[in-house]
Amino acid sequence: MRLSRYFLPVLKEDPKEAQIVSHRLMLRAGMIKQQAAGIYSWLPLGYKVLKRIEQIVHEEQQRAGHVPLLMPTLQSADLWRESGRYDDYGEEMLRIKDRHKRDLLYGPTNEEMITDIFRSNVSSYKDLPLTLYHIQWKFRDEIRPRFGVMRGREFLMKDGYNFDLTKEDALHAYNRHLVSYLRTYERMGLQAIPMRADGGPIGGDYTHEFLVLAETGESEVFYDSQITDLTFGDRQINYDSVEECQAVLEEFTSRYARTDETHDEAVFAQIPEERRRTARGIEVGQIFYFGTKYSEPMGATVVGPDGNRVPVHMGSHGIGVSRLLGAIIEANHDDKGIIWPEGVTPFHVGIVNLKQGDVSTDSACEAIYNELRTRGMDPLYDDRDERAGAKFATMDLIGLPWRITVGPRGLANNKVELTDRRSGESQELSPQEAVERLSKIYQPIFALSAPTA
Ligand code: ATP
Ligand code: MG
Repeated sequence: MRLSRYFLPVLKEDPKEAQIVSHRLMLRAGMIKQQAAGIYSWLPLGYKVLKRIEQIVHEEQQRAGHVPLLMPTLQSADLWRESGRYDDYGEEMLRIKDRHKRDLLYGPTNEEMITDIFRSNVSSYKDLPLTLYHIQWKFRDEIRPRFGVMRGREFLMKDGYNFDLTKEDALHAYNRHLVSYLRTYERMGLQAIPMRADGGPIGGDYTHEFLVLAETGESEVFYDSQITDLTFGDRQINYDSVEECQAVLEEFTSRYARTDETHDEAVFAQIPEERRRTARGIEVGQIFYFGTKYSEPMGATVVGPDGNRVPVHMGSHGIGVSRLLGAIIEANHDDKGIIWPEGVTPFHVGIVNLKQGDVSTDSACEAIYNELRTRGMDPLYDDRDERAGAKFATMDLIGLPWRITVGPRGLANNKVELTDRRSGESQELSPQEAVERLSKIYQPIFALSAPTA
């Protein structure tokens, strides 16, 4: 993309309404615009990152064998009356009447609808296991929308639902989700720690929230510092293997890590004092096994191997796709702006032309731009007639992890500068070497992409 043709409305001043750094930087970098409390337009740069995050979520869900579909945002109230949640859900649910006075709602989640799809189409245990998911906008009329996309009213969520014959099978689905989530967040450059959470009214141990540690997080968390040493890394896993998925769950839940709802002082006190941590975290996902809570009242049954009809065992598993932008920025920024992890960056590299209109710098920039694109990278070329300082400030603010600076003096020696946004370190390289270097950096990241439906 050439910046002269892009739409990047950056702000010079800090917006007053933003209380936390991610919200401030998203506004300043021209990523979002608030349209009403907790409701945002996604401007091109924000939209691009949102799509990158969505793509990673799709790839990792499908790698785990989960099947994408798309359900609507508006739902009929009748479905929710069947589960009993239409009255229970309270004021967070946005209720709407159509012209025929029929009750609709803007979906805050999709357990009822997916259960309806399942019961209408599946009737034999032979069609199990099955996990369906979608990435769709949700609406929750939060009492206090704040912190930008972190707590919106309209927000994008991946929600997946597993259908299994037995509790044992459903717990494998639970573990499979845990593994896929670990991979998902790591690809985004995030450490999200699975923490034992509150099972709500139906209780049980089978729910974990994934938390990114950050001072601005809304959840209070308690953990053993050893948990932060664990990484999933590039290990291969067979998602069909009950043992392999179980082993990952055990490893990642082997240390104390809980949200305040499940925190137990007595157990916590047994951890050596120097490893005990109390901190704040941002909830970026949650997995949940809830058995037959919806399948029973809604009649989602299958004929089992013995010929009897039984309600299926289900769970639901969510990732806060739009909230992740905020969480990633909270974890990756400095005084100058955002520092995108390579896996989610809107553009892989910025090209700064120090002397726009100069025949040699212009043609060198064009050549680099084209070569990067030929190699599958997505560069942002600042081809505006602006001062160097202003160009650097914009690049730093929007946080591209790499920058190539092209000026007449360097070019005289066939050199450009390759700068690492995070460390600030620069290297003088020939244009070819710079492209080569970037190609090496991004190849392993591109290799993580799996084919998606
Ligand atoms: P919270 O406790 O933060 O209100 P939740 O537990 O009600 O969230 P879930 O139903 O578990 O949310 O939804 C799955 C994921 O969707 C959450 O882990 C979170 O990342 C994201 N999410 C939930 N509410 C919001 C919101 N208002 N704005 C943005 N993302 C949200
Ligand atoms: Mg939750």
